[in-house]
Amino acid sequence: MADKVERLKTLIIGSGPAGYTAAIYAARADLKPVVYTGMEPGGQLTTTTEVDNFPGYPEGVDGPSMMIDLQKQAERFGTDVRMGMATAVEFSDEVGGIHKVTIDNDKVIEAETVIISTGATAKYLGIPSEQKLRGGGVSACAVCDGFFYKGQDVAIVGAGDTAAEEASYLANICSKVTMLVRKDHMRASKAMQHRVNSLKNIEIRYNTEVDEVLGDLVVEGLRMVNNLTGEKEEIAITGLFVAIGHKPNTDIFKGQLEMDDTGYLITKGKSTKTSKPGVFASGDVQDKEYRQAVTAAGTGCMAALDAERYLATIESPEEVSTQ
Ligand SMILES: Cc1cc2nc3c(=O)[nH]c(=O)nc-3n(C[C@H](O)[C@H](O)[C@H](O)COP(=O)(O)OP(=O)(O)OC[C@H]3O[C@@H](n4cnc5c(N)ncnc54)[C@H](O)[C@@H]3O)c2cc1C
Repeated sequence: MADKVERLKTLIIGSGPAGYTAAIYAARADLKPVVYTGMEPGGQLTTTTEVDNFPGYPEGVDGPSMMIDLQKQAERFGTDVRMGMATAVEFSDEVGGIHKVTIDNDKVIEAETVIISTGATAKYLGIPSEQKLRGGGVSACAVCDGFFYKGQDVAIVGAGDTAAEEASYLANICSKVTMLVRKDHMRASKAMQHRVNSLKNIEIRYNTEVDEVLGDLVVEGLRMVNNLTGEKEEIAITGLFVAIGHKPNTDIFKGQLEMDDTGYLITKGKSTKTSKPGVFASGDVQDKEYRQAVTAAGTGCMAALDAERYLATIESPEEVSTQ
């Protein structure tokens, strides 16, 4: 049972690009932030070997090294980075109210402001050959990794708007894109379907699923299976993109914060404000549109600035309202 309580100005939940960027800004504003890393210290980028599109790394960088750099930068200004999962929350409805966050079902943190940066988790098919080759040609992010397969043959799994969008993106870079659709139709909007159908180098295979991803260390091919006839077929590819959706890590916020129908936190206007005063959200947990490290970092910055301004209005309401 929770019996240890600690009071903070700013608690940051999550240690991806959003959480660490929020920490850099919050620490420099003297909010003395504490970051709880969760089960994946460094976040999603720790699962990828090459990040070529984050500004400031002209030669590219591997994901884990980049996240260590971000952590060091946050710590340089005094951020307290701790291992631990937020397991329950009780957010106040009052402006200036104290929010309670339980860590590892044990310790309770009381915080004047909370920045939620818990990210989203890409869904995978879950078959062993796919899991073995994650980072070796299997990716859940075409915008991030498509460039590495320039001029090559790839495949993509999925049938929704994101899959259609990513297939079109890949078609601009790769020689051929084979798109595997489990049903006999796509879920994507008519406009997106039209776009995919109009691209000559996308071949759509309906009623088709992945039987096995072929290759030992890197992807060399794909064995597909027709789920109506059971017929199997192998094709040579170097990259497999899984575009079957993401799950935002928001289970513990259910009933506490407003979310959309897919579980993403809703933020107000151009800010990072959630439905509770003093609670802010940044990164993929509130963004199903862009899902990039740089956009996550950008909203992490915004969340820290929003938290700082919120605290300032509570501490000196008149001063701030006349600014
Ligand atoms: C394979 C792959 C390759 C990618 N490559 C690129 C790329 O090249 N360039 C690019 O810009 N983007 C890339 N991305 C996307 C990028 O990783 C994400 O957009 C970015 O990491 C989102 O940052 P975030 O801080 O919002 O969340 P995340 O990175 O998802 O971090 C979430 C953090 O929250 C923590 N957490 C979750 N729940 C809790 C909890 N209850 N308590 C405490 N902590 C919790 C996790 O442990 C983690 O530290 C890639 C993604 C993948 C999957």
